[in-house]
Order: sequence, then structure tokens, then C-alpha cells
Amino acid sequence: MARINDHYLKLGAGYLFPEISQRVRLFEEQHSDAKIIRMGIGDVVLPLGQSVRDAMHRAVDELGTAEGFRGYGPEQGYAFLREAIAEHEFRACGVEISPDEIFVSDGSKCDSANIQEIFAVQARVAVPDPVYPVYVDSNVMAGRSGPRDDDGRYQGILYLPCTEANGFLPQPPGEAVDLVYLCSPNNPTGSVATHDMLAAWVAYARNCGAIILFDAAYEAYITQEDLPHSIFEIPGAREVAIEFRSFSKKAGFTGLRCAYLVVPKELEGIDAQGNAVSIHSLWSRRHSTKFNGASYPVQAGAASIYSEQGRAEVQASIDYYLANAKIIREGLSSLGLRVFGGVNAPYVWATTPDGVGSWDFFDRLLEQAHVVGTPGAGFGAQGEGYLRLSAFAQRDQVEEAIVRMRERMRL
Ligand SMILES: *Cc1c(COP(=O)(O)O)cnc(C)c1O
Repeated sequence: MARINDHYLKLGAGYLFPEISQRVRLFEEQHSDAKIIRMGIGDVVLPLGQSVRDAMHRAVDELGTAEGFRGYGPEQGYAFLREAIAEHEFRACGVEISPDEIFVSDGSKCDSANIQEIFAVQARVAVPDPVYPVYVDSNVMAGRSGPRDDDGRYQGILYLPCTEANGFLPQPPGEAVDLVYLCSPNNPTGSVATHDMLAAWVAYARNCGAIILFDAAYEAYITQEDLPHSIFEIPGAREVAIEFRSFSKKAGFTGLRCAYLVVPKELEGIDAQGNAVSIHSLWSRRHSTKFNGASYPVQAGAASIYSEQGRAEVQASIDYYLANAKIIREGLSSLGLRVFGGVNAPYVWATTPDGVGSWDFFDRLLEQAHVVGTPGAGFGAQGEGYLRLSAFAQRDQVEEAIVRMRERMRL
């Protein structure tokens, strides 16, 4: 029999969201009349904007003509999209990114899971706790950790505790690492790093030779002024950071699939002989070997969000979700829970009542209010005692969820 990758056997009971779906499915089987409100998985619900649909229809029609047909596109993404991203996402906020530093892909989940491949198995990895589970799991699969302990932590990974005391924002550790994942605005806590905090991380990385893997999947949700949308707003970040961006949460592309990675030309790693190696060229080699490009209609749809109409449509849906987040924040807080996030992020992070465990609270919420949240412990050991509620839902559902919690639960 073929020998398997044993590192997979170290992984915990399964990825968080399949576990939640299974519990919800079981509950539905036993309560077929329950009207379940889903505020668990972070998936958008509003329909695609007109500008995206029009651009995609046009692109498909083009492919149906002799002159307009296209086969494989450039692996790195069409120039029209990379130029639009450089202009509207970066130059517009004072950051110079060259279009050839942008790698278009079919998702930030894959990008954030794949990036570790170009680094040594020995690389020491730091991750915030709690955080998006993909960063840890992909490193465990690659063999960058020891076994998992009882509270779900893997030996060899450096966890950066994000607690109420530090505003759910990790500080640079007192030791050197090779790779550090940061996610701002944060999934699951909804916290956002300030300029000063990111500057401290950039200084740390420059000092110890670390590379920051900065996940900005939710940057479009930042509403407060003076908060950085990109790590590249910090001077000196080009030598030490990679940034992940996605059209998923920004423009409702979770089903269409389009994202990109920004890898500055200055960024370098080191080989076994101690020579500096360009990370951009390594990633370029990896990307063009293992990926054949996002589809043309999808990239055309993505580029359309930068038109005047596209921008207005994107903003309207973000405003809608943020208004949901406000209702959730105020609702939970009126029920006596302490709430965080939800101002610059589509997630509200709430304490469970009376120190109830987060999976227990998840079950109570499902059984009593028929509302699906996400247990904080699923995002890391420090998430125990918290629940994440997602603002990606229809308004009436959000309002109904709060009413049910008030009427049916003793919080
Ligand atoms: C949703 C999400 C992404 C985006 O994933 P896609 O694969 O682009 O849909 C990336 N990072 C975080 C933290 C997310 O929550």
C-alpha cells in the first residue's frame, strides 16, 4: 500500500466548518420544523452586483466568437485586472505596487495554504490565537509541527495569544521566527491592527529576518479612518511582507473565486548555502507550475468592481453587512454578553455567558434559538469562552436571531 503523509494524522478532528455542518445536519434531522438561522460560516449572501454580471456576460459572449475566444490566460492573471488592482487598491491609498508584483488566483484560502510551500520545512511559524484555521493546518500538513496537544495546539508552532487584555491584537514575540501570519481586520475577532502595531511588526520582521504573511481579506470593511488597509502602508514593509487579498468578502465572489497575492520584488529569503533568493521569483515559479490561471469571465467580473457603478455596488453590500454587524453587537450587548469587533469587520466576537464552554454555547444557541454561530475554540485555544457571529446574513434573519436569543435563552 502507498505510504501516506503522516503529518495529516496529526490534524484535529476535522476542519472547523465541516464539524459545524455535521452538528447542524444532525439537529435538522431531529427537528425538521426548526427554521435555522445561519450566522456561522463566513459566507456572503447578497446577490452579485449588476456590473459584475454584465462584465461576466460580455466576457462569456466574447469567448463565443472567433476573434474573442481565449484559451489559457496568463498564469499570473490578465494584465487588465492586475493593473486595475494596482491602481484602485493600492495607488489610491498612496501605495505603489507594480502589476507584476500581483498574482491573481482562485482564492485566498488556497494562497494562504500554499504559500508555506516555498519555505523550508524547518521554518519556525508564528500564528495569532485565535485565527483563521488554514494557516496552522497547512503548516501541520507540511510537517512544520509536532503532535497536537489536548487544547488543540501543535508543538513547534509559536502561538501569539489574542485576548481581551491586548485588544485581540498580537504583539511581536520576544524570540525570532521565520514566518508570521497576521490577519487584519481579524477573522474571528473583528479587531484591526493600527499603523503603530503594524510598524512594530515590520520592525520585528526586519530585525529578525522574518516574513510577515498579511491576510487583508476584510480590508474593505474598515470604516474608521487612520487604520491601515495594507501592510505596505508601513515604510519598510516591502522587504518583509506578502499580502493576501480576495474578492470573496469584498465583492461577493465566494462562489465565483478570485483573489490575489502581492509579493514585492525586494522580498528575499535565504537558501541552505546562505545566499539571498527572491521570494517573488520562487512564488512565480510555484504559481506558474501548479496553477493555470483564474477563468477569464471571473477576472473580467473582478475588474468591473473598479468602475464607478461597481464601486457603488460593492460599497452598498459592505454597508449592508456592517449594519447587520451593528444590530448583532447591540443585540448581544443588550443581552449582557461582552462584544468585540463588528465595526471594521463583518464578525462580532462575543463572550459566552457564565464561562460556558464555546462548543456548549454553540449547542445551546442551536437548540434553543435555532441559530448557528461559530464556537471560538474552533479558531484556537484562546477562543475558548467566545462565540463568533457572522454579519453575512439577511437583515430580517439577523433581527430574528436577536429576538429569539432574547425570548428563548436565559443569558
Ligand atoms: C474568507 C477568508 C479568506 C478568503 O478566502 P477565499 O478563498 O478568497 O474565498 C481569506 N482569509 C480569511 C481570514 C478569510 O476569512
